[in-house]
Amino acid sequence: MRQIKAVFNGNFDSIENIKVSPFSRAYTFSDSVYEVLPFFNKRLIAFESHIERLKRSVDAINIILDSKKVTDEINQLLSSSDFDSGYVYYQVTRGQDLIRSHMYSDQMDVETFGYITPCSFETKKLNVMICEDTRWGRCDIKSTSLLANVLHMNNAKSLSCDEVIMHKDGILTEAGASNLFFISNGNIFTPALTNNILPGITRSILIEALLENGIKVLEGDFNYYELQKATSAWLTSSTKGMAPIENIINIEHSLNLDDSLYMSCKKIFDSKFFI
Ligand code: PLP
Repeated sequence: MRQIKAVFNGNFDSIENIKVSPFSRAYTFSDSVYEVLPFFNKRLIAFESHIERLKRSVDAINIILDSKKVTDEINQLLSSSDFDSGYVYYQVTRGQDLIRSHMYSDQMDVETFGYITPCSFETKKLNVMICEDTRWGRCDIKSTSLLANVLHMNNAKSLSCDEVIMHKDGILTEAGASNLFFISNGNIFTPALTNNILPGITRSILIEALLENGIKVLEGDFNYYELQKATSAWLTSSTKGMAPIENIINIEHSLNLDDSLYMSCKKIFDSKFFI
């Protein structure tokens, strides 16, 4: 096994030495939330925003978390690693049951787990497919319960796709592990934040950076017929950055990778994200 640096319940070790109980609620119920915190040139990108979102996730599922301890552990993983660029995965689980039970005890010790890994953040052109969003009603919580995403994304993989774009009753939501933007008639659109969408940190970095440069992003409800008319579309996430969509395999579309507005957005984004 690779020597991955990790931390479990405050103890730093390599990943193969970490033992998790099968009664951990992460294992039996995926009763846990997580963050993926990117870093570039040894600098954590939008660190406070990630910690704030983790705080919102634990609050939403009634877990009490010491954010200062999390911050220290993430910084320690970063300072003890040789990687210049990569990400820290950090998961918070409600705790361990004495015996598996949907109803949890109030006396549980929260279980935390983090590890650090390199990532090149190389921009990849994406092949995607549209599919129906069959996830639960609280996708704004960054929960590890990702079975629907896993099934959709593996179906997409079997059709040589890198990602999916989901819709609920025709209204575009997001991708399996990223947020969606597209350009139509010279305007930039992205689905508005609701309970059906994860409020991506990369999404908000991009919207803010564009606004600082006088470019407005229109947030709202859009259907996939509007995506068919788009001249450019891309996905954002902490590990993908801003990745252009080259092809949507199951709808007709007119995507053009050389769209000049897309190019300007990408330049603005890269100068804000990779510093
Ligand atoms: N939407 C989903 C479902 C995700 O899983 C992710 C990231 O993993 C995102 C959006 C993008 O979020 P962020 O930009 O904070 O990485």
